[in-house]
Amino acid sequence: MVDKSKHIIHMDQDAFFVSVELRKNHKLAGKPVIVGGNSDRGVVTSCSYEARKFGVHAAMPGRMAKQLCPQAIFVRGNMDDYSKASHEITEIIADRVPLFEKASIDEHYIDMTGMDKFFGCMKFASELRQTIIKEMGLPISFGLSINKTVSKIGTNECKPNGEKEIPFPEVRDFLNPLAVHKIPGIGDATYKKLSEMGVRKIQTLAEIPQDLMFKILGQHGLGLWQKANGIDPSPVVPYRERKSIGTQTTFESDSMDISKMKAILSGMVTNLTYDLRSQQKLTACITVTIRYSNFETVTQQARIPYTALDSFLIAKAHDLFKKLYTKRMLLRLIGVKLSHLVSGFEQIGLYHTSEVEYDLYQAMDKVRNHYGIESVVKACIVRGPERDENGKVIKYNPRKKKKEKQVEDGEEKVDERQRSRIRTFINAELGTATKLDG
Ligand SMILES: [Mg+2]
Repeated sequence: MVDKSKHIIHMDQDAFFVSVELRKNHKLAGKPVIVGGNSDRGVVTSCSYEARKFGVHAAMPGRMAKQLCPQAIFVRGNMDDYSKASHEITEIIADRVPLFEKASIDEHYIDMTGMDKFFGCMKFASELRQTIIKEMGLPISFGLSINKTVSKIGTNECKPNGEKEIPFPEVRDFLNPLAVHKIPGIGDATYKKLSEMGVRKIQTLAEIPQDLMFKILGQHGLGLWQKANGIDPSPVVPYRERKSIGTQTTFESDSMDISKMKAILSGMVTNLTYDLRSQQKLTACITVTIRYSNFETVTQQARIPYTALDSFLIAKAHDLFKKLYTKRMLLRLIGVKLSHLVSGFEQIGLYHTSEVEYDLYQAMDKVRNHYGIESVVKACIVRGPERDENGKVIKYNPRKKKKEKQVEDGEEKVDERQRSRIRTFINAELGTATKLDG
């Protein structure tokens, strides 16, 4: 069952955000440093190993971190710097290997299978690590083994500033004594369930009959059982354009209404970022496409710091649209795509946003999770209420509306059809395509 012919490297920066801060300010070296979490409701996004000794960890409320480690130095953090460093690291790797996956802002998987005959994998990985340390001035660790899971656990076990090879014959002995929570992706609920069953070590989990695991935890349980046994068939997925999420609208009747276009763009970005956040992803690239009535299609793209927040992306989308729409011609299609996606979640609170705004997004997402994606939207997306000639809002009168509806029946239908042609395309990596409306 175990595919022992593969050679997968997992590389992960050590305390990435903190290390970038250290590079800027050497006085922070050797001290308990925490990025994020400086205000009452803020959350720790990264902490130095000195701070970890006090029990501080990422995703912990800042207030708790302060209690555990009162002498900690809090740094607000700068996502622009982290994104820049992240792209530079990716470039170094891309220059040297044909097949790699960017798994998060500071993590890469490299598939060395086939290349192992020409290079020693361990030697290659070790040299690549040294290159990144030298060129970037940032600490990094790696694990090398037969699949993504074992390699990642290897990295985590040798951090910080470490490298670890787990060849196939040693996989079982390496995994067995480790605690079950060392398996990547084990959630709190699953961990609790396993603890209740008395499962603490990976070995215990590995020895549970497979069908029993399926009975207790379903497909997820089966996946965990495989990982506990050193099995992980998931491939290294190439980074570039493949990971993207987008949406486009074809108008039933071509339009030149700029404010309407901007509202549509805002709506599309809002829906896409909601999807991003619910999949715990961040984007580093936005693309806007427009098609004129003569079918001429133009596209503009912008690299951006990693983010999953509406306000910044909406402004960028409007920016790109302004650059694109240069001809006074009717438009028949408008589209937005977010690409260069990586996993990441806590970080979204850091960039170009106040805490109040961050709270607002969390609250809005909660409402959407319960009542659907269109249950709550920003005011910039909807058009204002109808007003009379004196600027007074015209009161809603259902009887009048009914009458008008009969008169404007034709127009109503067009509007409905326009909505029905909003499509979202999400590539296979993220799941199957979904329709936004309906
Ligand atoms: Mg890291």
